[in-house]
Amino acid sequence: IVSRLPAVGTTIFTIMSRLAQECGAINLSQGFPDFSAEDVLFERVAHWMRAGHNQYAPMAGVPALRAAIAAKVEALYGAAYDPEHEVTVTAGATQALFTAVAALVHPGDEVIVFEPVYDSYVPAIELQGGVVRRARLAAPEYRPDWQAVRALVTPRTRMIMINTPHNPTGTVWTAADLAELAAITRGTGIVVVADEVYEHIVFDGQLHQSVARVPELADRSVIVSSFGKTYHVTGWKVGYVLAPWELMAEFRKVHQFNVFTVNTPVQLALADYMGDASRHLGLAAFYQGKRDFFRAGLAATRFELLPCAGTYFQTVRYAAISDQADTAFVDWLTREVGVAAIPLSAFFGDGRDEKVIRFCFAKREDTLAAAFERLQRFC
Ligand code: PMP
Ligand code: GLN
Repeated sequence: IVSRLPAVGTTIFTIMSRLAQECGAINLSQGFPDFSAEDVLFERVAHWMRAGHNQYAPMAGVPALRAAIAAKVEALYGAAYDPEHEVTVTAGATQALFTAVAALVHPGDEVIVFEPVYDSYVPAIELQGGVVRRARLAAPEYRPDWQAVRALVTPRTRMIMINTPHNPTGTVWTAADLAELAAITRGTGIVVVADEVYEHIVFDGQLHQSVARVPELADRSVIVSSFGKTYHVTGWKVGYVLAPWELMAEFRKVHQFNVFTVNTPVQLALADYMGDASRHLGLAAFYQGKRDFFRAGLAATRFELLPCAGTYFQTVRYAAISDQADTAFVDWLTREVGVAAIPLSAFFGDGRDEKVIRFCFAKREDTLAAAFERLQRFC
C-alpha cells in the first residue's frame, strides 16, 4: 500500500492513555475529565430517546440546538449567525476541522498553522494535497510572532488555522492578536479556521477573543467548538461550526457525505441543557480552581511551571529533573513515577524537543492529590 500519510503513526493520545492503563498510572495525558457531567443532562438524553427521537436528525443538526448555539454566540460575542444557514452540528470538533479543510483546501493551496499545533490539523491538510506552512509559537510564552506570520503569506495561502485558548500551551490570544490577523487577511482570499473548543475555559478575568467578535474576521472565518469540553462529555463527540452562509454552503456539501448528521437524542438534550447559561459561564471559575490547585501541588517539585491562561492543560519544563528527550521522560514518568503526561514534541512536525510536557488537570481533587504525592517524591 502506498500510504496517503506515510509519516503518521498512532496518535500520542492513544499511545499515552494505553501506556497509563498498562502501568496503572494516573492518566494526566489525554485531555478528558475523570468526573461526571450532571445527572440532569443524562436524564434529558433518556427523555428524548424514550420519546422516540432515535432516527436521523436534519443534516445540519436539530433546529433547537442550532437556535441555542446561535443565541449563545450572539449573547457572548455579539455576532448574529442564522441557525438555518450558518450553524452546523458536527461529530465533535475533529470532524468539523477535517470537513472544513476538505471543503475549502485545494491541492497545492498553502495553509498556515501555529506550532506547537494540535495533532489533527496537519494530516487533514496533507490529505487534501495542501501545503503546510508553520508559524512558531516560542516558549515559554508561546505568543504569535505576527511579523513571522506575515512573511509566510503568499498568493497561494488559502487558510490560516488558529486555536485560542491554545492546546497544548494554554495561551490565550488577545484582541490585538485578532487585529493583526484581520490586517493580514484583509483583501485576500484567505479563510480563517478558528478552533475555539476551549472558549469557556479562560482564566484571571480575561475574555475569550472569539473571531466572532470581529465582524470583518467573522466574515471570512469558520469557527469550531465542542460540547465535549464544555459539558464534561468528551466521549459524546458532538460539536459545531459557525460560518457565513457562502462558506457554510461549501462546508455542508462535504459534511453531508462525511457523516450526514449527528446523534439525535444527544442534540436534543444539549439544546435543553444549554438554556441555562450559568453552565458554560461557570466553567472558567471551576477550572481556574483546578489550575491553581494543580500549580500549587507542582510548586513542591522541580518542574518549572509555564504560564496557563486557559484550557485544562498545564505545561511544565522538566530540565532541572532530567536531560532525557521528552518522549523518554514521559515514558519514565508513566512507568516509574506512575503519572502519565504528553510530550510537547508530538505537536511539532520535526519532533522538536524543548523539554516541556503537558499535564491535564481536568480531574477530581483526589486524583490530582494522588498525582502530587507521586510527583513530589520523584521530581
Ligand atoms: N481541537 C483541540 C484544540 C482540541 O484540544 C480537541 C480535543 N482535545 C479537539 C479539537 C477535538 O475535539 P472533539 O473531541 O470535540 O473532536
Ligand atoms: N484533544 C485531547 C487532548 O488534547 C485528546 C483528543 C484525542 O484523544 N484525540 O488531549
